[in-house]
Amino acid sequence: MQDRCKSLAGVPYDPVSMTENTPPSRNIRADVAIVGAGLVGSTLACALAKHGVTTAVIDRLAPSTLLAPTFDGRASAVALSAQRLLRAIGVWDHLAGQTEAIREIRVSDGDAPFFLHYDHADLGDEPLGSMAENRHLRAALAKQMLSCADHLQIISPASVTSMAQRADDITLTLDDGRTVTTALAVSAEGRNAALRGLAGIGVTGWTYPQIGIVATIGHARSHDGIAHEHFLPAGPFAILPLPDDGGVHRSSLVWTEREDVADSYMALPEAAFLAEIAERVGGFLGELSLIGPRFSHPLGLQFAAQYTSGRLVLAGDAAHGIHPIAGQGLNLGFRDVAALTEIIVDAKQLGLDLAHPGGLARYQRWRRTDNLVMAGVTDVLNRLFSNDVTPIRLARDAGLGVVNRIGPLKKFLMRHAMGTVGELPRLMRGENLNA
Ligand SMILES: Cc1cc2nc3c(=O)[nH]c(=O)nc-3n(C[C@H](O)[C@H](O)[C@H](O)COP(=O)(O)OP(=O)(O)OC[C@H]3O[C@@H](n4cnc5c(N)ncnc54)[C@H](O)[C@@H]3O)c2cc1C
Repeated sequence: MQDRCKSLAGVPYDPVSMTENTPPSRNIRADVAIVGAGLVGSTLACALAKHGVTTAVIDRLAPSTLLAPTFDGRASAVALSAQRLLRAIGVWDHLAGQTEAIREIRVSDGDAPFFLHYDHADLGDEPLGSMAENRHLRAALAKQMLSCADHLQIISPASVTSMAQRADDITLTLDDGRTVTTALAVSAEGRNAALRGLAGIGVTGWTYPQIGIVATIGHARSHDGIAHEHFLPAGPFAILPLPDDGGVHRSSLVWTEREDVADSYMALPEAAFLAEIAERVGGFLGELSLIGPRFSHPLGLQFAAQYTSGRLVLAGDAAHGIHPIAGQGLNLGFRDVAALTEIIVDAKQLGLDLAHPGGLARYQRWRRTDNLVMAGVTDVLNRLFSNDVTPIRLARDAGLGVVNRIGPLKKFLMRHAMGTVGELPRLMRGENLNA
Protein backbone atom coordinates (compact mmCIF):
# COMPACT_ATOMS: atom_id res chain seq x y z
CA MET A 1 0.00 0.00 0.00
CA GLN A 2 1.50 3.36 -0.94
CA ASP A 3 2.32 6.05 1.63
CA ARG A 4 -0.68 8.43 1.82
CA CYS A 5 1.13 11.26 3.64
CA LYS A 6 3.07 14.17 2.13
CA SER A 7 6.53 15.14 3.20
CA LEU A 8 6.58 18.37 5.18
CA ALA A 9 10.38 18.40 5.30
CA GLY A 10 11.63 21.96 5.34
CA VAL A 11 8.14 23.41 5.76
CA PRO A 12 8.11 26.04 8.52
CA TYR A 13 5.58 24.83 11.03
CA ASP A 14 4.22 25.99 14.35
CA PRO A 15 2.27 23.06 15.88
CA VAL A 16 0.35 25.29 18.27
CA SER A 17 -1.29 26.99 15.28
CA MET A 18 -2.82 23.63 14.28
CA THR A 19 -6.61 23.73 14.22
CA GLU A 20 -9.51 21.51 13.40
CA ASN A 21 -9.50 20.58 9.71
CA THR A 22 -12.91 19.01 9.16
CA PRO A 23 -15.16 20.07 6.30
CA PRO A 24 -18.28 21.93 7.51
CA SER A 25 -20.43 18.79 7.61
CA ARG A 26 -22.72 17.87 10.49
CA ASN A 27 -22.34 14.17 9.65
CA ILE A 28 -18.70 13.17 9.37
CA ARG A 29 -17.75 9.77 7.92
CA ALA A 30 -14.44 7.90 8.09
CA ASP A 31 -13.18 4.31 8.28
CA VAL A 32 -12.07 4.67 11.90
CA ALA A 33 -12.79 7.21 14.68
CA ILE A 34 -10.23 7.64 17.45
CA VAL A 35 -11.39 9.37 20.60
CA GLY A 36 -8.40 10.92 22.37
CA ALA A 37 -5.50 12.68 20.66
CA GLY A 38 -2.94 11.91 23.37
CA LEU A 39 0.32 10.18 22.49
CA VAL A 40 -1.42 6.86 21.80
CA GLY A 41 -4.44 8.18 19.87
CA SER A 42 -2.28 10.49 17.74
CA THR A 43 0.19 7.70 16.95
CA LEU A 44 -2.65 5.42 15.88
CA ALA A 45 -4.11 8.20 13.72
CA CYS A 46 -0.75 8.69 11.96
CA ALA A 47 -0.27 4.93 11.48
CA LEU A 48 -3.74 4.38 9.99
CA ALA A 49 -3.72 7.46 7.75
CA LYS A 50 -0.24 6.53 6.49
CA HIS A 51 -1.73 3.23 5.27
CA GLY A 52 -4.75 4.81 3.58
CA VAL A 53 -7.31 4.17 6.32
CA THR A 54 -9.44 7.33 6.59
CA THR A 55 -9.45 8.42 10.19
CA ALA A 56 -11.20 11.01 12.36
CA VAL A 57 -9.47 11.86 15.64
CA ILE A 58 -11.47 13.65 18.32
CA ASP A 59 -10.15 15.33 21.48
CA ARG A 60 -11.97 17.35 24.10
CA LEU A 61 -8.97 19.71 24.32
CA ALA A 62 -7.99 22.18 21.59
CA PRO A 63 -4.69 21.51 19.78
CA SER A 64 -3.31 24.78 21.19
CA THR A 65 -3.79 23.33 24.71
CA LEU A 66 -2.46 19.84 23.94
CA LEU A 67 0.56 21.27 22.15
CA ALA A 68 1.49 24.01 24.61
CA PRO A 69 5.07 23.29 25.82
CA THR A 70 3.97 23.36 29.48
CA PHE A 71 0.97 21.00 29.02
CA ASP A 72 2.97 17.84 29.73
CA GLY A 73 6.40 18.18 31.35
CA ARG A 74 7.20 14.47 31.21
CA ALA A 75 9.78 12.84 29.02
CA SER A 76 9.28 9.26 27.86
CA ALA A 77 11.72 6.41 27.56
CA VAL A 78 10.80 5.14 24.08
CA ALA A 79 11.86 1.51 23.66
CA LEU A 80 13.76 0.48 20.53
CA SER A 81 10.75 -1.38 19.12
CA ALA A 82 8.53 1.70 19.57
CA GLN A 83 11.19 3.79 17.86
CA ARG A 84 10.89 1.47 14.84
CA LEU A 85 7.11 2.03 14.78
CA LEU A 86 7.51 5.81 14.97
CA ARG A 87 10.11 5.70 12.21
CA ALA A 88 7.90 3.54 9.97
CA ILE A 89 4.99 5.99 10.22
CA GLY A 90 7.06 9.11 9.59
CA VAL A 91 7.04 10.54 13.13
CA TRP A 92 10.63 9.82 14.19
CA ASP A 93 12.10 12.07 11.48
CA HIS A 94 10.26 15.04 13.01
CA LEU A 95 12.19 14.41 16.26
CA ALA A 96 15.65 14.92 14.75
CA GLY A 97 17.97 16.43 17.37
CA GLN A 98 15.32 16.11 20.10
CA THR A 99 16.00 12.58 21.36
CA GLU A 100 18.79 11.11 23.46
CA ALA A 101 19.91 7.51 23.05
CA ILE A 102 19.91 5.44 26.25
CA ARG A 103 23.17 3.54 26.12
CA GLU A 104 23.25 2.24 29.68
CA ILE A 105 20.85 1.75 32.57
CA ARG A 106 22.15 1.61 36.13
CA VAL A 107 19.83 0.40 38.87
CA SER A 108 20.85 0.92 42.51
CA ASP A 109 19.13 0.35 45.82
CA GLY A 110 19.58 2.90 48.61
CA ASP A 111 23.16 2.72 49.88
CA ALA A 112 23.63 -0.95 48.94
CA PRO A 113 26.87 -1.82 47.13
CA PHE A 114 25.08 -3.91 44.46
CA PHE A 115 23.77 -2.47 41.32
CA LEU A 116 22.40 -3.83 38.13
CA HIS A 117 24.08 -2.51 35.02
CA TYR A 118 22.63 -2.80 31.51
CA ASP A 119 24.98 -1.78 28.69
CA HIS A 120 23.67 -1.68 25.12
CA ALA A 121 27.10 -2.80 23.89
CA ASP A 122 26.44 -6.26 25.41
CA LEU A 123 23.77 -6.77 22.73
CA GLY A 124 25.07 -4.85 19.72
CA ASP A 125 25.16 -1.32 18.33
CA GLU A 126 21.59 -0.23 18.86
CA PRO A 127 20.70 1.77 21.99
CA LEU A 128 18.34 0.34 24.62
CA GLY A 129 15.86 3.06 23.70
CA SER A 130 15.70 6.84 23.51
CA MET A 131 14.42 9.62 25.70
CA ALA A 132 12.05 12.15 24.16
CA GLU A 133 10.24 14.97 25.90
CA ASN A 134 6.48 14.53 25.60
CA ARG A 135 6.10 18.10 24.31
CA HIS A 136 8.37 17.18 21.37
CA LEU A 137 6.59 13.85 20.80
CA ARG A 138 3.24 15.68 20.69
CA ALA A 139 4.58 18.27 18.25
CA ALA A 140 6.11 15.59 16.01
CA LEU A 141 2.83 13.66 15.96
CA ALA A 142 0.89 16.85 15.16
CA LYS A 143 3.22 17.61 12.28
CA GLN A 144 2.80 14.11 10.88
CA MET A 145 -1.01 14.33 11.30
CA LEU A 146 -0.97 17.51 9.23
CA SER A 147 1.07 15.80 6.52
CA CYS A 148 -1.58 13.04 6.38
CA ALA A 149 -4.47 15.54 6.21
CA ASP A 150 -5.95 13.93 3.07
CA HIS A 151 -6.83 10.87 5.15
CA LEU A 152 -7.07 12.35 8.61
CA GLN A 153 -9.64 14.71 10.11
CA ILE A 154 -8.88 16.41 13.43
CA ILE A 155 -12.00 17.29 15.41
CA SER A 156 -11.29 19.31 18.54
CA PRO A 157 -12.22 20.59 20.98
CA ALA A 158 -15.14 18.16 21.06
CA SER A 159 -16.35 15.41 23.39
CA VAL A 160 -18.44 12.37 22.64
CA THR A 161 -21.80 12.43 24.42
CA SER A 162 -23.29 9.18 23.12
CA MET A 163 -22.45 6.13 21.06
CA ALA A 164 -24.83 4.04 18.93
CA GLN A 165 -23.69 0.68 17.56
CA ARG A 166 -25.46 -0.89 14.56
CA ALA A 167 -24.82 -4.03 12.53
CA ASP A 168 -22.67 -2.17 9.95
CA ASP A 169 -21.32 0.88 11.71
CA ILE A 170 -21.00 2.92 14.88
CA THR A 171 -22.05 6.57 15.34
CA LEU A 172 -20.56 8.90 17.91
CA THR A 173 -22.51 12.06 18.74
CA LEU A 174 -20.42 15.05 19.75
CA ASP A 175 -21.30 17.74 22.27
CA ASP A 176 -21.79 20.29 19.47
CA GLY A 177 -24.41 18.05 17.83
CA ARG A 178 -22.22 16.72 15.00
CA THR A 179 -22.00 12.98 14.41
CA VAL A 180 -19.08 10.78 13.35
CA THR A 181 -19.98 7.46 11.70
CA THR A 182 -17.32 4.81 11.14
CA ALA A 183 -16.78 1.05 10.94
CA LEU A 184 -14.68 1.06 14.12
CA ALA A 185 -14.24 3.42 17.08
CA VAL A 186 -11.13 3.40 19.26
CA SER A 187 -11.12 4.80 22.78
CA ALA A 188 -7.66 6.25 23.41
CA GLU A 189 -9.10 8.53 26.09
CA GLY A 190 -6.63 7.66 28.84
CA ARG A 191 -7.48 6.34 32.29
CA ASN A 192 -10.93 7.93 32.67
CA ALA A 193 -12.22 6.71 29.32
CA ALA A 194 -15.86 7.74 28.87
CA LEU A 195 -16.54 5.37 25.94
CA ARG A 196 -15.32 2.45 28.02
CA GLY A 197 -18.00 3.35 30.58
CA LEU A 198 -20.66 3.86 27.88
CA ALA A 199 -19.88 0.34 26.60
CA GLY A 200 -20.21 -1.07 30.13
CA ILE A 201 -16.61 -2.34 30.24
CA GLY A 202 -15.47 -2.72 33.85
CA VAL A 203 -12.06 -1.74 35.25
CA THR A 204 -10.00 -3.31 38.03
CA GLY A 205 -7.29 -1.37 39.80
CA TRP A 206 -5.96 0.53 42.75
CA THR A 207 -4.07 3.69 43.53
CA TYR A 208 -0.56 3.69 44.97
CA PRO A 209 0.10 5.89 48.01
CA GLN A 210 2.72 7.64 45.86
CA ILE A 211 2.96 10.69 43.61
CA GLY A 212 5.27 11.00 40.60
CA ILE A 213 7.03 14.37 40.79
CA VAL A 214 8.48 15.31 37.39
CA ALA A 215 11.08 18.00 36.73
CA THR A 216 13.83 18.78 34.24
CA ILE A 217 17.27 19.60 35.61
CA GLY A 218 20.38 21.13 34.11
CA HIS A 219 23.76 19.82 35.27
CA ALA A 220 27.43 20.71 34.94
CA ARG A 221 28.64 17.24 33.84
CA SER A 222 27.41 15.12 30.95
CA HIS A 223 25.10 12.18 31.68
CA ASP A 224 26.91 10.14 28.98
CA GLY A 225 23.64 8.59 27.82
CA ILE A 226 23.19 6.72 31.12
CA ALA A 227 19.75 6.36 32.73
CA HIS A 228 19.78 5.86 36.50
CA GLU A 229 17.06 4.28 38.59
CA HIS A 230 17.77 4.73 42.28
CA PHE A 231 15.44 2.92 44.66
CA LEU A 232 14.65 4.93 47.77
CA PRO A 233 12.22 3.95 50.56
CA ALA A 234 9.44 6.20 49.13
CA GLY A 235 9.85 4.70 45.64
CA PRO A 236 12.07 4.86 42.56
CA PHE A 237 13.98 8.04 41.71
CA ALA A 238 14.84 8.05 38.00
CA ILE A 239 17.39 10.32 36.31
CA LEU A 240 16.86 10.07 32.56
CA PRO A 241 19.19 11.55 29.93
CA LEU A 242 17.92 14.35 27.64
CA PRO A 243 19.75 16.06 24.78
CA ASP A 244 21.76 19.17 25.63
CA ASP A 245 19.90 22.41 25.02
CA GLY A 246 21.79 25.63 24.33
CA GLY A 247 24.97 24.01 25.69
CA VAL A 248 23.26 22.92 28.92
CA HIS A 249 23.40 19.23 29.90
CA ARG A 250 19.89 18.13 30.90
CA SER A 251 18.06 15.21 32.47
CA SER A 252 14.44 14.44 33.23
CA LEU A 253 13.60 13.35 36.78
CA VAL A 254 10.77 11.11 37.88
CA TRP A 255 10.82 11.32 41.66
CA THR A 256 8.33 8.93 43.28
CA GLU A 257 7.38 10.31 46.67
CA ARG A 258 4.96 9.38 49.45
CA GLU A 259 1.52 10.78 48.80
CA ASP A 260 1.27 12.40 52.25
CA VAL A 261 4.43 14.50 51.83
CA ALA A 262 4.57 15.09 48.05
CA ASP A 263 2.53 18.31 48.19
CA SER A 264 4.94 19.85 50.67
CA TYR A 265 7.88 19.07 48.35
CA MET A 266 5.96 20.52 45.40
CA ALA A 267 5.36 23.74 47.38
CA LEU A 268 9.02 24.25 48.38
CA PRO A 269 10.77 27.41 47.15
CA GLU A 270 12.98 26.63 44.15
CA ALA A 271 16.30 26.58 46.05
CA ALA A 272 14.94 24.18 48.70
CA PHE A 273 13.33 21.94 46.04
CA LEU A 274 16.63 21.80 44.19
CA ALA A 275 18.47 20.95 47.43
CA GLU A 276 16.13 17.97 47.94
CA ILE A 277 16.85 16.84 44.38
CA ALA A 278 20.61 17.28 44.84
CA GLU A 279 20.50 15.09 47.95
CA ARG A 280 18.80 12.29 45.98
CA VAL A 281 20.86 12.63 42.78
CA GLY A 282 24.22 12.71 44.58
CA GLY A 283 27.25 14.51 43.17
CA PHE A 284 27.99 12.64 39.93
CA LEU A 285 26.32 15.21 37.62
CA GLY A 286 28.02 18.22 39.24
CA GLU A 287 26.13 21.41 40.02
CA LEU A 288 22.37 21.18 39.35
CA SER A 289 19.79 23.74 38.23
CA LEU A 290 16.02 23.51 37.80
CA ILE A 291 14.66 24.05 34.26
CA GLY A 292 10.98 24.94 33.88
CA PRO A 293 8.01 24.05 36.06
CA ARG A 294 7.47 20.95 38.24
CA PHE A 295 4.62 18.56 37.59
CA SER A 296 2.96 15.97 39.81
CA HIS A 297 1.05 12.84 38.80
CA PRO A 298 -1.03 10.55 41.02
CA LEU A 299 0.00 6.93 40.43
CA GLY A 300 -2.18 3.87 40.10
CA LEU A 301 -2.76 0.62 38.29
CA GLN A 302 -5.88 -0.14 36.31
CA PHE A 303 -6.93 -2.76 33.88
CA ALA A 304 -9.99 -3.01 31.62
CA ALA A 305 -11.94 -6.27 31.86
CA GLN A 306 -12.07 -6.51 28.07
CA TYR A 307 -10.54 -4.55 25.20
CA THR A 308 -13.42 -4.75 22.74
CA SER A 309 -17.18 -4.36 22.76
CA GLY A 310 -18.87 -4.67 19.38
CA ARG A 311 -17.31 -1.98 17.17
CA LEU A 312 -15.43 -0.28 20.03
CA VAL A 313 -11.84 -1.11 21.02
CA LEU A 314 -9.63 0.29 23.77
CA ALA A 315 -5.98 1.27 23.36
CA GLY A 316 -3.29 2.83 25.58
CA ASP A 317 -4.13 3.96 29.11
CA ALA A 318 -7.85 3.51 28.40
CA ALA A 319 -7.08 -0.24 28.41
CA HIS A 320 -4.22 -0.37 30.96
CA GLY A 321 -2.61 2.15 33.29
CA ILE A 322 0.56 1.05 35.08
CA HIS A 323 3.20 2.38 37.51
CA PRO A 324 5.98 4.34 35.72
CA ILE A 325 8.70 2.38 37.57
CA ALA A 326 9.90 0.69 34.36
CA GLY A 327 8.96 3.45 31.86
CA GLN A 328 6.68 1.06 29.97
CA GLY A 329 3.13 2.55 30.02
CA LEU A 330 3.41 4.41 26.75
CA ASN A 331 5.46 1.61 25.21
CA LEU A 332 2.58 -0.79 25.84
CA GLY A 333 0.29 1.76 24.16
CA PHE A 334 2.63 1.89 21.16
CA ARG A 335 2.39 -1.91 20.94
CA ASP A 336 -1.41 -1.65 21.00
CA VAL A 337 -1.15 0.83 18.12
CA ALA A 338 1.15 -1.37 16.04
CA ALA A 339 -1.02 -4.47 16.59
CA LEU A 340 -4.29 -2.66 15.87
CA THR A 341 -2.88 -1.00 12.75
CA GLU A 342 -1.73 -4.38 11.44
CA ILE A 343 -5.17 -5.92 12.03
CA ILE A 344 -7.09 -2.99 10.50
CA VAL A 345 -4.82 -2.64 7.46
CA ASP A 346 -4.93 -6.41 6.82
CA ALA A 347 -8.77 -6.28 6.99
CA LYS A 348 -8.87 -3.32 4.60
CA GLN A 349 -6.56 -5.04 2.11
CA LEU A 350 -8.76 -8.16 2.22
CA GLY A 351 -11.96 -6.12 1.84
CA LEU A 352 -13.25 -7.24 5.25
CA ASP A 353 -15.28 -5.23 7.76
CA LEU A 354 -12.64 -3.28 9.74
CA ALA A 355 -14.38 -4.39 12.95
CA HIS A 356 -14.71 -8.04 11.98
CA PRO A 357 -14.97 -10.11 15.17
CA GLY A 358 -12.01 -12.36 14.32
CA GLY A 359 -9.67 -9.35 14.03
CA LEU A 360 -10.85 -7.68 17.23
CA ALA A 361 -10.69 -10.96 19.16
CA ARG A 362 -7.11 -11.36 17.94
CA TYR A 363 -6.28 -7.83 19.14
CA GLN A 364 -7.65 -8.57 22.59
CA ARG A 365 -5.81 -11.92 22.90
CA TRP A 366 -2.59 -10.44 21.60
CA ARG A 367 -2.44 -7.27 23.66
CA ARG A 368 -4.27 -8.11 26.88
CA THR A 369 -1.89 -10.84 28.02
CA ASP A 370 1.23 -8.79 27.26
CA ASN A 371 -0.19 -5.76 29.07
CA LEU A 372 -1.32 -7.83 32.06
CA VAL A 373 2.13 -9.33 32.50
CA MET A 374 3.79 -5.89 32.46
CA ALA A 375 1.18 -4.47 34.87
CA GLY A 376 1.92 -7.36 37.26
CA VAL A 377 5.70 -6.99 36.96
CA THR A 378 5.63 -3.23 37.63
CA ASP A 379 3.29 -3.72 40.59
CA VAL A 380 5.55 -6.33 42.18
CA LEU A 381 8.71 -4.29 41.54
CA ASN A 382 7.14 -1.21 43.14
CA ARG A 383 6.03 -3.16 46.22
CA LEU A 384 9.38 -4.93 46.52
CA PHE A 385 11.55 -1.82 46.19
CA SER A 386 9.48 0.98 47.78
CA ASN A 387 10.25 0.13 51.39
CA ASP A 388 13.14 -0.09 53.81
CA VAL A 389 12.29 -3.37 55.52
CA THR A 390 15.69 -4.98 56.19
CA PRO A 391 15.00 -8.64 55.19
CA ILE A 392 13.25 -7.49 51.98
CA ARG A 393 16.08 -5.08 51.20
CA LEU A 394 18.74 -7.77 51.72
CA ALA A 395 16.83 -10.25 49.54
CA ARG A 396 16.25 -7.80 46.68
CA ASP A 397 19.87 -6.60 46.74
CA ALA A 398 21.06 -10.17 46.55
CA GLY A 399 18.63 -10.62 43.63
CA LEU A 400 20.01 -7.57 41.80
CA GLY A 401 23.53 -8.90 42.29
CA VAL A 402 22.56 -12.33 40.92
CA VAL A 403 20.81 -10.89 37.84
CA ASN A 404 23.84 -8.71 37.19
CA ARG A 405 26.11 -11.77 37.14
CA ILE A 406 23.97 -14.13 35.03
CA GLY A 407 24.69 -13.00 31.47
CA PRO A 408 21.80 -14.69 29.61
CA LEU A 409 19.19 -13.54 32.16
CA LYS A 410 20.54 -10.00 32.04
CA LYS A 411 20.42 -9.98 28.24
CA PHE A 412 16.83 -11.25 28.32
CA LEU A 413 15.84 -8.41 30.67
CA MET A 414 17.66 -5.90 28.46
CA ARG A 415 15.71 -7.13 25.43
CA HIS A 416 12.55 -6.65 27.49
CA ALA A 417 13.51 -3.03 28.15
CA MET A 418 14.12 -2.61 24.41
CA GLY A 419 10.69 -4.08 23.73
CA THR A 420 12.06 -6.67 21.33
CA VAL A 421 10.73 -9.85 22.97
CA GLY A 422 7.32 -11.46 22.58
CA GLU A 423 5.03 -11.54 19.56
CA LEU A 424 5.94 -8.21 17.99
CA PRO A 425 3.66 -6.52 15.45
CA ARG A 426 5.28 -6.16 12.03
CA LEU A 427 5.74 -2.38 12.29
CA MET A 428 7.86 -3.02 15.40
CA ARG A 429 10.01 -5.60 13.65
CA GLY A 430 11.05 -3.05 11.04
CA GLU A 431 8.75 -4.62 8.39
CA ASN A 432 6.14 -2.73 6.43
CA LEU A 433 2.51 -3.76 6.06
CA ASN A 434 2.57 -3.96 2.27
CA ALA A 435 4.35 -7.28 2.10
C1 LIG B 1 5.39 10.31 35.83
C2 LIG B 1 5.16 9.42 34.64
C3 LIG B 1 6.23 9.06 33.83
C4 LIG B 1 6.03 8.20 32.73
N1 LIG B 1 7.12 7.83 31.98
C5 LIG B 1 6.94 6.94 30.98
C6 LIG B 1 8.05 6.49 30.19
O1 LIG B 1 9.20 6.90 30.39
N2 LIG B 1 7.84 5.58 29.19
C7 LIG B 1 6.58 5.08 28.96
O2 LIG B 1 6.43 4.21 28.08
N3 LIG B 1 5.50 5.50 29.67
C8 LIG B 1 5.65 6.42 30.66
N4 LIG B 1 4.57 6.85 31.36
C9 LIG B 1 3.20 6.41 30.97
C10 LIG B 1 2.66 7.27 29.82
O3 LIG B 1 2.85 8.64 30.07
C11 LIG B 1 1.18 6.97 29.56
O4 LIG B 1 1.04 5.57 29.43
C12 LIG B 1 0.71 7.64 28.26
O5 LIG B 1 0.90 9.03 28.30
C13 LIG B 1 -0.77 7.32 27.98
O6 LIG B 1 -1.15 7.95 26.78
P1 LIG B 1 -2.65 7.85 26.24
O7 LIG B 1 -2.62 8.58 24.93
O8 LIG B 1 -3.12 6.45 26.29
O9 LIG B 1 -3.54 8.63 27.31
P2 LIG B 1 -3.58 10.17 27.69
O10 LIG B 1 -2.22 10.76 27.64
O11 LIG B 1 -4.31 10.24 28.98
O12 LIG B 1 -4.44 10.88 26.54
C14 LIG B 1 -5.83 10.80 26.48
C15 LIG B 1 -6.36 11.90 25.57
O13 LIG B 1 -7.77 11.70 25.42
C16 LIG B 1 -8.46 12.93 25.57
N5 LIG B 1 -9.80 12.59 26.09
C17 LIG B 1 -10.07 11.97 27.25
N6 LIG B 1 -11.40 11.76 27.35
C18 LIG B 1 -11.96 12.24 26.23
C19 LIG B 1 -13.30 12.29 25.75
N7 LIG B 1 -14.30 11.75 26.43
N8 LIG B 1 -13.54 12.87 24.55
C20 LIG B 1 -12.52 13.38 23.80
N9 LIG B 1 -11.22 13.35 24.23
C21 LIG B 1 -10.94 12.77 25.41
C22 LIG B 1 -7.59 13.73 26.54
O14 LIG B 1 -7.80 15.13 26.39
C23 LIG B 1 -6.17 13.29 26.12
O15 LIG B 1 -5.67 14.13 25.10
C24 LIG B 1 4.73 7.72 32.45
C25 LIG B 1 3.65 8.09 33.25
C26 LIG B 1 3.86 8.93 34.34
C27 LIG B 1 2.68 9.31 35.21
